[in-house]
Amino acid sequence: MEWVTQNGITIGRFPPLAVIAPGLEVFITTRGGGVSPPPFASLNLGGDLGDRTLNIRSNRALLLASLGISSRSVARTGQIHGSEIALVTRAGCYPGFDGFVTTRKGLTLAISTADCYSVVVYSPPERALAALHVGRRGAERGIVGRAVDIMRAEHRIDPSYAIAVIGPGICGACYTVSRKDALRFPKEVRRFERGAWHLDLGAFILRELTHAGLRRRNVFSSGLCTACNPALFFSHRRDHGITGRHWTLATVGAAGPCSERLR
Ligand SMILES: [Zn+2]
Repeated sequence: MEWVTQNGITIGRFPPLAVIAPGLEVFITTRGGGVSPPPFASLNLGGDLGDRTLNIRSNRALLLASLGISSRSVARTGQIHGSEIALVTRAGCYPGFDGFVTTRKGLTLAISTADCYSVVVYSPPERALAALHVGRRGAERGIVGRAVDIMRAEHRIDPSYAIAVIGPGICGACYTVSRKDALRFPKEVRRFERGAWHLDLGAFILRELTHAGLRRRNVFSSGLCTACNPALFFSHRRDHGITGRHWTLATVGAAGPCSERLR
């Protein structure tokens, strides 16, 4: 991942995508450059957390302006830690869903996280795009495999040509869970260490993607932990539930003035 800072807002991007998936843009936001005070300092993009609505609106406007994305092109999910995926062609909010699939050019899919992972899947031949919010419960319910299944059924994708991006999320060292929750996951992604069960959700997501037919070399991961990096990221676990949210934005074919600038 490379970082680009513009107007005080630092965005993570994946340069290889420009070569292997022309037209696809994935932006990972960080916590700086916004207007919210602590504990939401400063680019909090999530609502219903205790931050003022005016601050959240300002932060979203600052971010979208810096990326050259119209707020009227953004689709957001309600994110209820489920595994429901909406097939979308229009901007707006989709409560009750944790992911989207679209082939609509210029539609920007936004996933809000702070420890949970964002996952983007894209199949270049069909220009089919999925963006998912993947927490422990959604992962356990198979949201990653479901997204690939939907893309295969609806858009006839071949997963071996698809690429995926795994955003920042809580690492296996930081993420302790109950024994009961740990044992719901395969042994390769859980471990008992220093008196606690640890779950490596990022490793589980990678495993789900390859099991769904994606090639390992086509999966790009930020490799960054939200809890380990307080200067860059909000973390629900580290900040005891009182914190902000980042966005992962994914869009296809909306090469505007901003994406030109960022290159
Ligand atoms: Zn960590």
